[in-house]
Amino acid sequence: MYIEIKDGSNRTYYIRGQIRQYGLSFKKTGKYTGKWAGNVSEDLIGEIEAFCNKNHVKLYKKEEGYARSSNYADAFFAGNTGFRGDGETYRCSYCGRIIRRSKGEVTVDHLIPVKGVANTSFWHKRVRQYMDRKGIRDINQIENLVPACSHCNLSKGSRMGFWIIRGYLGRNERFWKAAYLLMAVASVAILSVCIIMVLSRLQH
Ligand SMILES: [Zn+2]
Repeated sequence: MYIEIKDGSNRTYYIRGQIRQYGLSFKKTGKYTGKWAGNVSEDLIGEIEAFCNKNHVKLYKKEEGYARSSNYADAFFAGNTGFRGDGETYRCSYCGRIIRRSKGEVTVDHLIPVKGVANTSFWHKRVRQYMDRKGIRDINQIENLVPACSHCNLSKGSRMGFWIIRGYLGRNERFWKAAYLLMAVASVAILSVCIIMVLSRLQH
């Protein structure tokens, strides 16, 4: 099981020897912040839990399938060759911009973010239930991965709600075709009304 140990202060620093013995390694998350992370055997969980309680540090357990895999991007590109099928041209699922892989513009985003299901809070459990209903057993499954430009990927971060709806619709090329058609029709309609108004003024 993949676990992380962290706290707000530097408490883990004083017990680092023991944490290391559990096979965890330190990962920097900011200039002065970090966490201990790694895979441990299920048998050790009870002991580690007690150890963390005793030392007042937080233990985060991540069940398999709810943690970011190391090769999800490769899996995505292997199964999704983009809307032209050339493995090069993709469309950002959030803003609709055309992005090219050779230019390094294509990032792979978790539609339901890893942080949205990673622990066992009330909302995270609800999201897991939703995933079950949708047949998503693993957060790294291709059904949960969408192409995104780096700008949108960064803006989205771990947000859910409206962003998920956007990505869910925007992953379909047909959505963008319909949206652009609608915009074109609306523009022509607005332009026509303007022209009619100007012409009717000129006649008076
Ligand atoms: Zn975008």
